[in-house]
Amino acid sequence: MELLDQNATLPETANLVIIGAGIVGWSAAHFLTQAGWEQVIVLDQGLLFEDGLGSTSHAPGLIFQLNASKAVCQLARWSVALYSELEYQGLRCFFPVGSLEIAYSRARHEELKRKLGHALSWGLPAELIEPSEIQRRIPILNTERIPSALHVPSDGIAKGARICQALAARAIGRGASCYPQTEVTGVEVVRGQVHAVHTSRGTIHTSRLLLCAGIWGPRIGKLAGVAVPLTPVEHQYVKTSPLPQLAGETREVVHPILRHQDRAMYFRQQADCYGIGSYQHEPRLIPSEDLGAGEKAIRPFTPSDFEKPYADALELFPCFGEVDLSYRINGMFSFTPDGNSLMGESADVRGFWMAEAIWVTHGGGAGKAMAEWISTGRPPMDLREMDCNRFHRHAASRAYIRARGAQQYREVYDIIHPLEPIREPRCLRVSPFYERQKELGAVFFEAAGWERPQWFTANENLPIDAAWPQRNGWTAQNWSPVCGVEHQATRERVALFDLTAFTKLEITGERALDFLQSITANQIDRPEGTITYTSLLNDRGGIECDLTVTRLGAQRFWVLTGGTGGPHDLAWIRSHLPTDRSVRIADLTSAYCCLGVWGPRARDLMAAVSDDDFRNEAMPYMTARKVYVGHVPVLALRISYAGELGWEVYAPTEYGLHLWDLLWDAGRGLGLIAAGGAAFDSLRLEKGYRLWGTDIHSDYNPYQAGLGATVRLKKGEFLGRSALECIKSQPISPRLCCLTFDDPQVTVMGKEPILCGDAVLGYVTSSNYGYSVGRSIAYGYLPSEHATEGAAMDIYFFGERHRARITREPLFDAGNSRLKS
Ligand code: FAD
Repeated sequence: MELLDQNATLPETANLVIIGAGIVGWSAAHFLTQAGWEQVIVLDQGLLFEDGLGSTSHAPGLIFQLNASKAVCQLARWSVALYSELEYQGLRCFFPVGSLEIAYSRARHEELKRKLGHALSWGLPAELIEPSEIQRRIPILNTERIPSALHVPSDGIAKGARICQALAARAIGRGASCYPQTEVTGVEVVRGQVHAVHTSRGTIHTSRLLLCAGIWGPRIGKLAGVAVPLTPVEHQYVKTSPLPQLAGETREVVHPILRHQDRAMYFRQQADCYGIGSYQHEPRLIPSEDLGAGEKAIRPFTPSDFEKPYADALELFPCFGEVDLSYRINGMFSFTPDGNSLMGESADVRGFWMAEAIWVTHGGGAGKAMAEWISTGRPPMDLREMDCNRFHRHAASRAYIRARGAQQYREVYDIIHPLEPIREPRCLRVSPFYERQKELGAVFFEAAGWERPQWFTANENLPIDAAWPQRNGWTAQNWSPVCGVEHQATRERVALFDLTAFTKLEITGERALDFLQSITANQIDRPEGTITYTSLLNDRGGIECDLTVTRLGAQRFWVLTGGTGGPHDLAWIRSHLPTDRSVRIADLTSAYCCLGVWGPRARDLMAAVSDDDFRNEAMPYMTARKVYVGHVPVLALRISYAGELGWEVYAPTEYGLHLWDLLWDAGRGLGLIAAGGAAFDSLRLEKGYRLWGTDIHSDYNPYQAGLGATVRLKKGEFLGRSALECIKSQPISPRLCCLTFDDPQVTVMGKEPILCGDAVLGYVTSSNYGYSVGRSIAYGYLPSEHATEGAAMDIYFFGERHRARITREPLFDAGNSRLKS
């Protein structure tokens, strides 16, 4: 490309350096320069485009937009929009031939119905089609064993290298410059801020870089002390020689692209040939450190890995048996511990932005998102699933990245149940109650490395109410009817919930109060010992975090938030800290364990193990006190996410086992049980408590989420306040609504579309059965004109519609009499 001068002198300064000239780097360069950025420099260690080293140059470019994640699907849709408008030297960059995901098993046939639900929820046109229609679209396909396929008409083939050329022409036309054969060899960080990028051709001073180096990302992260938790994995792709059945076909692609997920394979027509991709073989991981600077993202083909896939391919396309394979590679691309991309600014080094582990499918959308994020400080939509700061510390270990990356590769096309816990690695983090929980037959799920009880088989002997819904099939997986028993015991007696995984932050310093006031929407300046539930908002008013703040001193606060989202919340809070060290944050998560002691007999239980006063007068609802439980010094918070009388009891971790035993022994006569996360979810849902990450996140503001009562606009300036003032002056839409099914036996799992006639109005954010109210509950955001009590909707699940109605919430104890009793 003429615009690239291989010998030009490297500039000494830049506003932004993009490392990596693959599809992600060029997409970001395009959108950044479109947004008016000047002095944007794109560096690559290799040559460009077709001769590039990176994965983009080797990808066959299949774009399947649908994903269980709404955000991932949206990134793909933005990519398709971008690629569709591009041309390079008169050649198209995207071919919207549509896609087919075929079923080859009963389970997949059902799964496709569920996926159609996701497509409806996210607004992506899709349909289920029958064998005759499949055959019509791909005549050379053997459809004998295929009962159905999911057809997404707007999917297709993206020409990666051509897209890069088209985007490069635009970005360079707007002033960006590109330096191929320029290896980044160092990143200079001064006082936690990017200062310069060192390369094989000189140094560029800059305070911002965007890492788009694909499989090389971890190497460059290491240069700056930033974890980039991904592993390169080999992946097989082959191409047949020309097929007689396609003789004379010169068009790039006409047949829809095809996924054969029951065999972990995909197919695409390429003029008169066919390309075949396989994920069947055991993952072959390459440590990033072992990648040579000038090495391509390709490894030698391993024929034995392709024997079984090839047999599977022949079953589907018998005509492949008539020809040879003319092209065979083990390509390489990135897998992260949870399968999602890594996007955003590192919480450890300011100015170190990344857009890593991104497929061609999402490259265009990711570039758009990063350009807006870097320009405005926030992404265009909720990208918490891709947040590069989402991982807990253990996830930066090489062993974890390898183990989880390999599993993501194995499972890439598997049917994954939404509640399915990971199998490996397990038992990384256990609370001090773990051994006792095991004795009670705890069924543990993993979250953020913690072993968290979901239910206890010890409770199986307690009576199950015959009126409760019977689950079977999909909804019965990773579930037990015991959660109903645990729910009921919490409402009727008292239960222990292990809350040790909660993130516990202590915020102190001479300006701690001012700081917290500036980032929270609720009033924090309350008497010592007060607990405040609040949201942390971005400047658009979107909910970035929700948490409680407990005032323990004039300038001493405990901030308590969920376990999984802890790193995200900590990164958000740290990113707003004043630079003068007047505020300090300590992460006390490992220092304290916590038990939720909840239920109408919770006070009796606490009184039995403590000399302190737990009556209302001494410790009202939403207050905290330091007390003793036996010999154990604890901080007791009078609060309950289950909506019951009770306390969150925080003790130094080493006292935990003793604390459990004390409570357990004292609770025998009170009907105490241990309860797990499944009951917890049902309890909170019938109480209307929102869950961050599903019911609330940065796409919604507190008014939409029904949390307006926790906003104090009059308290003074805080982040998001002006946006809320503006939002409040206009009609609020959509609104989070509570729906209950006409048939209480119906169970859905979340993300199902909510329909009014044929119009999709929203989707389910949370769902569970409310054992105390005897109703099956679903929450979802609905346009305000539909958000009226009694309005009837349908919720689509596995191909069936279930009638549900908007119901006044909360369904249980609206007056909070139990919490305050
Ligand atoms: P890359 O394209 O790898 O670009 C990274 C660039 O960074 C490289 O050019 C590299 O030279 C440069 N770089 C690295 N280190 C340095 C340094 N120190 N200094 C300067 N420059 C550096 N995705 C799909 O969506 N659909 C598919 O069908 C598909 N099929 C695939 C099949 C195969 C065989 C492979 C290998 C991948 C496939 N992918 C597919 C995945 C997709 O190709 C990648 O995820 C995507 O191309 C990554 O783009 P990128 O811009 O992040 O990285």
